[in-house]
Amino acid sequence: MFFSFSRFFTSDIAIDLGTANTLVYVKGKGILIREPSIVAINRGDNKICAIGFEAWEMLGKTHRDIEVIRPMRDGVIDDDEVAEDMIRFFIRKVHKNRLFRPRVTICVPSGVTKSEKRIIRDSAEHAGAREVYLIAEPMASALGVGLPVNEPVGSMILDIGGGTTEIAVLSLGGIVNDMSIRVAGDEMDETILQFMRRNYNLLIGERMAEKVKCTIGTATPLEKELNMVVKGRDLVAGIPKAIEVNSVEIREALSEPVDSIVDAVKLTLEKTPPELSADIRDRGIILTGGGSLLKGLDQRLRDETSLPINLADDPMTCVVRGTGMVLDNFEKYEKLLLRN
Ligand code: ADP
Ligand code: MG
Repeated sequence: MFFSFSRFFTSDIAIDLGTANTLVYVKGKGILIREPSIVAINRGDNKICAIGFEAWEMLGKTHRDIEVIRPMRDGVIDDDEVAEDMIRFFIRKVHKNRLFRPRVTICVPSGVTKSEKRIIRDSAEHAGAREVYLIAEPMASALGVGLPVNEPVGSMILDIGGGTTEIAVLSLGGIVNDMSIRVAGDEMDETILQFMRRNYNLLIGERMAEKVKCTIGTATPLEKELNMVVKGRDLVAGIPKAIEVNSVEIREALSEPVDSIVDAVKLTLEKTPPELSADIRDRGIILTGGGSLLKGLDQRLRDETSLPINLADDPMTCVVRGTGMVLDNFEKYEKLLLRN
């Protein structure tokens, strides 16, 4: 009987290298890693002191020699060296056998340039991958949510991540039109941070801002509005301070980034060929990515577009699940991978 050693010892790995979170799927095992895409570096000796969750815990709490960075700022690799270390760290975590190198499939935003693709490929190769395949993120999330990507029906996917919002219309295994804007979860956090500073003289950290967004952030009025105590430092007195804010004012603060996302969706709809528009009218838009969990965002889009809007199940894992499907059915989906 034919027995391939390399097949036995290597694993196929799918990586969703997001601006906010990195997820790793291993063929036959499922999603094994789900950690923030964050690296902490000691600037004294330029050594990495923490990656993932451990680095996230340090956000805003480090001393001056330690810098906490997000190597994937706007959806593409911002700092190749650090990104490479991060990819190596995650690959080693799931693939302990260093003798055999894994095949790795990585998702990239649909708008990446050739040189950005090169950097991602090189980083993964240097990090220990034997072969590297790339797939466009909207294609991966469409597969992950179970859309019929190989059929001649139009589907629209909206993916709101940390750094970018990607909107894509897919049909017949290809991307018909797409749009990417650099307004997503991080921008919402930044807006809340500014709001607290301007209106309450309260300086808050990134993690606090994100907590406010996830707890009381909304895109449409709530039947019962919410309150929350926000902690930070008083800009005038310089001492710790806590202030109660409500969801009405946070909604007002978030209106700018939310409006930008709504406008981008409308613009993409306007640019969609009529036959596919008809499909989208019937089938609607699927929301994925962590940012789509903002309360009331689905309702806001429903009100603005009059289309069916569906929030994907477990929206933060769609991309990696879809990429995992390519690994599991390589022959069937190979043609969806990006060339060079
Ligand atoms: P990426 O693909 O860029 O790594 P993710 O899809 O992992 O991004 O989404 C991360 C973003 O989702 C972060 O900005 C995070 O704050 C946001 N997010 C997560 N949960 C919620 C929530 N319940 N409400 C609003 N935003 C959320
Ligand atoms: Mg993503």
